[in-house]
Amino acid sequence: MNYKTINFSQYSSFKIGPTIEVALLENPSDYSKEFILIGGANNLLISNNPPPLMLLSKKYDYIKIEDNILKIGGATPSGKVASFCKKNNIANFEFLSHLPGKLGGLVFMNAGLKEYEIFNNLVDITTTSGKQTKQEIEFGYRYTNIKEPILEATFLLEYGFDDTKVKMFKQMRANQPSLPSAGSCFKNPPNNYAGKLIEEVGLKGFKKGAMEFSQQHANFLVNNGGGTFEDAFWLIKEAQKRVLEQFAITLECEVQIL
Ligand SMILES: Cc1cc2nc3c(=O)[nH]c(=O)nc-3n(C[C@H](O)[C@H](O)[C@H](O)COP(=O)(O)OP(=O)(O)OC[C@H]3O[C@@H](n4cnc5c(N)ncnc54)[C@H](O)[C@@H]3O)c2cc1C
Repeated sequence: MNYKTINFSQYSSFKIGPTIEVALLENPSDYSKEFILIGGANNLLISNNPPPLMLLSKKYDYIKIEDNILKIGGATPSGKVASFCKKNNIANFEFLSHLPGKLGGLVFMNAGLKEYEIFNNLVDITTTSGKQTKQEIEFGYRYTNIKEPILEATFLLEYGFDDTKVKMFKQMRANQPSLPSAGSCFKNPPNNYAGKLIEEVGLKGFKKGAMEFSQQHANFLVNNGGGTFEDAFWLIKEAQKRVLEQFAITLECEVQIL
């Protein structure tokens, strides 16, 4: 098996984590259950001692139109998908121009912005154990029950790239912190907002070391520079504890902790 050395304090969007060897999935047979698949690490908080990690090789970085269907490899970055759709006048993927990730990570998380989610136009996925149609997958808000590495996904092809949507997504981002983060730290509980709850328990702008629940948007845990896993983890646990004590609400992490 081939490996790639990755420095997670540079690679991850949090800018936290060790420099370690990550296994490369070049063929489905390379995978075994001990590995956790990672994509662009835009939603990962990585400790100094994570489980064995695996990354899809460059072979899975592609996007093409075949038989009137859009086929995208699991290692394809969101920006590449957005550019391809703009160039080929394809609709429904405008939100990916402002949503970081690789296709496998986006599908696993059912990532999205407002009502625009990656599952909306999904047809099927190919994992290391074969094809699964959208109907065979359980999915919801930032949730899927996918168990194996996603190698490819296919999507309905509709024409009409909409530049006004790109502007709208850019505008949504304008109010969010630009410091290193993983986007929303917690999922919004039903009929509530994680950011509002964090503010109400007094943690908006609260710092531990260089980590902070952003003053600009409390559900963004940001790294002011040189932040550590331990400080980030402490803040996550503190927010969960306070929100549970004061509101009897369990804040579920959107960020995946390894
Ligand atoms: C500034 C910022 C803003 C963000 N805004 C949003 C937003 O508005 N909406 C939103 O939904 N998310 C948002 N995110 C989070 C992030 O963009 C998404 O969760 C995205 O789907 C992560 O993709 P990734 O490739 O980086 O996955 P990673 O972070 O590497 O992994 C995320 C999860 O996916 C799994 N995974 C990764 N690749 C595969 C694969 N090939 N097969 C199976 N499982 C896999 C991992 O095991 C992990 O559980 C934001 C992040 C940042 C940094």
